[in-house]
Amino acid sequence: MASMPIFRCGVAAWLLALPMIGLASERPNILFIMSDDHATKAVSAYDDSLMQTPNIDRIADNGIRFDRAYVGNAICGPSRATMLTGKHSHGNGFYSNEWSGAFDGKQQTFPRLLQGAGYQTAVIGKWHLYSDPVGFDHWEVIHNNFEQGSYYNPVFRSASGEQESVGYVSELVTDRAIKWLDDAVLDDAPFFLFYSHKTPHRDWMPAPPELASWDDNEKVAEPATLFRSMTGEVQARQQARMSIAENMTEKDVKLSKARNMTADQERLWLDAFAQGNAVFENSDLSPEDVVRWKYQRYIKTYLASVKSMDREIGRLLDHLEKLGLSDNTIVIYTSDQGFFLGENGWFDKRWMDEVSSRTPLLMQWPGVINPGITSEAMVQNIDFAPTILEIAGVSAHSPMHGVSLRPLLEVPDLAWERDLYYHFYENPGFHGVARHYGVNTGRYKLIHYYQDSEWELFDLENDPSDLVNLYGEPQYAVLTEELKKRLKKLRKDYAVPAEEPEAPWYHSYLIRAAEMLLQ
Ligand code: CA
Repeated sequence: MASMPIFRCGVAAWLLALPMIGLASERPNILFIMSDDHATKAVSAYDDSLMQTPNIDRIADNGIRFDRAYVGNAICGPSRATMLTGKHSHGNGFYSNEWSGAFDGKQQTFPRLLQGAGYQTAVIGKWHLYSDPVGFDHWEVIHNNFEQGSYYNPVFRSASGEQESVGYVSELVTDRAIKWLDDAVLDDAPFFLFYSHKTPHRDWMPAPPELASWDDNEKVAEPATLFRSMTGEVQARQQARMSIAENMTEKDVKLSKARNMTADQERLWLDAFAQGNAVFENSDLSPEDVVRWKYQRYIKTYLASVKSMDREIGRLLDHLEKLGLSDNTIVIYTSDQGFFLGENGWFDKRWMDEVSSRTPLLMQWPGVINPGITSEAMVQNIDFAPTILEIAGVSAHSPMHGVSLRPLLEVPDLAWERDLYYHFYENPGFHGVARHYGVNTGRYKLIHYYQDSEWELFDLENDPSDLVNLYGEPQYAVLTEELKKRLKKLRKDYAVPAEEPEAPWYHSYLIRAAEMLLQ
């Protein structure tokens, strides 16, 4: 494929690294850990200014941290479909959470190929593709709440039907993953376990230990752009409905009582939030201070949910060690995309912006990946499937959009020139984010909001937070034309169809009604 990375002078380094491959000649186990909406800013291996994630950090300490890992469509279901197929949304047919129907599990996915090659395969936790998982010997996925599952007492769906549960979702998912591993280790065949967390997806509900230690008086630093005005920016940014000030609900900030809880869980919940709620409701805060209050509730429950999940990831990693599997198991940590943590005054994802289209990506593989290394190569979630297949020694039947990252695991600074394609389709959709596609070269990002013919150009070296739109500035005219050519080439290489997928005509009305009900 023409859009493959170009290996310039790195070929010699790659050849030198070849003898190391022999160390991993036995087919390794693969533990693929995925979370939901986990911004790199809330992974201390990337940035420890907001919180500590000691267990996720173990993977970075033992292996490689990718600093420029992105997704191709920053929203839950489409990102998972891309991860499974190694193809952008137009290649796998799953464009939108809201109106794409169910994922077609009969198409080529890497778990199906692994299963066919003799791997034991399982998915446990969030699935969110509306169809039964295909390619897994065992699947237990959270099902209620439109396949989001609930943080407390979720319903699991499996081949044998639906099963209610009592407890906290990360703990329940980990219990099930441990149980499956205990059985898998008895078989000689290698395993692939897709251990999939719903955390820290909206509406950010922490586990009992985090509720028990909740302190409303603790404050988290505000982002510099919490009160950023969108006046003068493209219409697409002005029209979005994802601000903490306007679009965050009472449920989001824990002013309303949590549902679907046992009496004991509810008592913990009220002990954590009721007093702070009473203080807030009896206060006379300025509109700005209300935003500050909501931001604190938001960011603190988000971070506390991550803490709950990190602890459970640690429990699973400990169990892997206890079973003696650590040495021949590749552990991968990633999320389905990033998230706005108050930047622009926003929550949610969807945009090609750095905070939402970037995702954490960490991998450990003893004997192959040196501990504590980093890579700045431009990589994307289309690459996960080809990478895992190469590691497992399995060939794909039909081409994928992504490329294997296997060479980078041993030569992380391998010369790697690559443009990344991004395409967000879910409009009409929640939060009113316009459809857009674009190219990210690593240095520059060009975005086209094609419904309203608007453009943005960002210089990521000087403006890593996508704040200053340079599109239309005369001194960038030549560069803009060059980037448009590169974008056009990407669309041609990936055969992106000119015809757009359409939502049902009534979808925008449904969304607006649902958003008003939530307020
Ligand atoms: Ca997500």
